[in-house]
Amino acid sequence: MVIRDVALTLLEDFPDPRQPGSVVKSGRASAIVAREDGSVGLVLSVGDLPRAQAHALEAEIGRRLRAAPGITSVRIIQTAERGASVSSQAKAAETGAIPGVRHIIGVGAGKGGVGKSTVAVNLALALARRGLAVGILDADIHGPSVQMLLGISGRARATPEKRLIPIEAHGLRMLGMGVMSDPDKAVAWRGPMIAGAVIQMATAGDWGALDVLVVDLPPGTGDIHLSLAQKLKPSGAIVVTTPQALSQADARRAIAFFEQLSVPVLGVVMNMASMIGPGGETLHPFGTPAAGAALGAETLAELPLDPAVVTASDAGTPLPEGPVAAGMDTVAAAIATRLNL
Ligand code: ADP
Repeated sequence: MVIRDVALTLLEDFPDPRQPGSVVKSGRASAIVAREDGSVGLVLSVGDLPRAQAHALEAEIGRRLRAAPGITSVRIIQTAERGASVSSQAKAAETGAIPGVRHIIGVGAGKGGVGKSTVAVNLALALARRGLAVGILDADIHGPSVQMLLGISGRARATPEKRLIPIEAHGLRMLGMGVMSDPDKAVAWRGPMIAGAVIQMATAGDWGALDVLVVDLPPGTGDIHLSLAQKLKPSGAIVVTTPQALSQADARRAIAFFEQLSVPVLGVVMNMASMIGPGGETLHPFGTPAAGAALGAETLAELPLDPAVVTASDAGTPLPEGPVAAGMDTVAAAIATRLNL
């Protein structure tokens, strides 16, 4: 078991002295970090406890953690701040911007039409094939196509608490403008309003526990990217391009923009990189891909132009086994390694 799981399991069994449930559930133990060298750190909120009890609690948690297999050192920081504010701050630190969502990954592109939505949906499906809980948010608000790619025709409903219930399709949980009650409304919206709507959809979504939320971003660079970076603190971004020089130049700009926003670019997907000609020969209709270095990020996969993609997309079904699905599995594996999933 990895150190973080050992520490979490132990803390999730450790009862809170004041509230029902464990010290993790109550938010008393938060910001739990674990390193491979066996060191574990956490913040313990003790503002509501008498001093002696706070010290006894810290000592007992420390003792149990140190006795656990693989844990070599424990650092506990006590905070005196109280109750809800501490636990909600701690929760935000622990779970990121959307409670329960471990990682948010943006899928962007310099240009439209390069296969960004196709890659976003198939990346989400490939991550789900790895046994992860995955959601997808369509933030490409002027050209929402995720619901079509997943064969979704219904509209999202809200809970009595006004949280949006994602639509389940092919094992993914999906939200986006295309499944809102009035999808045409967005057309007249301007940048900041749209960005606000996207963030609202993301944070009002009743996603449940997700390992990854994939966000299909609009092409280019703009307010949505900025808001995403600032408000949702994504773990990284994937940039999709074709090998065409025109598309690559814009991809480079998109990569530089993500970096400027401090969103790590996890890699590039080179789409439509080749195709099989009538005589079985390999053709490069959009030119030969540049080396990843020239783009400023590693190329994680080169996907061929494959009619099976068009058929599956129009049918709203996942890709059949083949080179594109295999390429997406490679991308998902690289991301899983990078994010420790
Ligand atoms: P974007 O989101 O960048 O605008 P889409 O994902 O909507 O692009 O893809 C644009 C079109 O290209 C769609 O018709 C899609 O089915 C098709 N497409 C994307 N990738 C491939 C591929 N590897 N092979 C064949 N067709 C593809």
